[in-house]
Amino acid sequence: MRLILLGAPGAGKGTVAKLLTQLDGSVQISTGDILRGAVQAGTELGKKAKEYMDRGDLVPDDLILGIMEKRFLEPDCQKGFLLDGFPRTIPQADALKKILVKLNIKLDMAVNLEVPREVILDRLSTRRTCVNSSCQAIYNVKSMPPKVAGKCDKCGSEIVQRADETEAAISKRLDTYNEKTAPLIGFYKKEGLLFDVNATASDTVVNAIKRKIDGI
Ligand code: ADP
Ligand code: ZN
Repeated sequence: MRLILLGAPGAGKGTVAKLLTQLDGSVQISTGDILRGAVQAGTELGKKAKEYMDRGDLVPDDLILGIMEKRFLEPDCQKGFLLDGFPRTIPQADALKKILVKLNIKLDMAVNLEVPREVILDRLSTRRTCVNSSCQAIYNVKSMPPKVAGKCDKCGSEIVQRADETEAAISKRLDTYNEKTAPLIGFYKKEGLLFDVNATASDTVVNAIKRKIDGI
């Protein structure tokens, strides 16, 4: 399948994407994971992106588009992809449309994960992420704690609160989402690709997407 996952920070795009990859071998492409990997590795991209990310601002469109143009050419995209965190602005959505036309790729849909703001705030402040850049597993101190406190179940690395998950950065990310990313809902509605789902529980979302895809 070829999907865009839309939704506020904390809506569960990453969790849903991971569950969907298990269905048909489609690959999860998370621009947030790619950027955090680059920051950790200290690459040029990482150096440029870090200050924006820590503040809860979006990284400039040209950096993101540079990453994504190359990413679509990797062979693992052939089976399908789940875009998690991209596009995030109208210019990114316009650019994506052009890239996909050029590569002759058709999207199935843009899934909009709808979650009440209180749930989002609670999830983000209790979320913990594995520091290992090739793992980046997600936990929640309340609802999904690791087996050993502070350690990743999958790889044993430390799990931490992300730099952009302080209260100030979270509130900034939500504002940024409302201002820059929420307009994409209208964009994909116009394209006839929008699918709204109540995303309070991730497995319900996966089932709704499965049914919708099978119906198409
Ligand atoms: P979340 O969806 O929880 O906010 P992500 O892991 O998707 O987190 O992104 C973390 C940060 O990485 C964002 O706050 C932003 O700074 C940067 N980022 C990720 N994807 C994009 C994008 N498509 N465009 C601009 N910045 C991005
Ligand atoms: Zn891990």
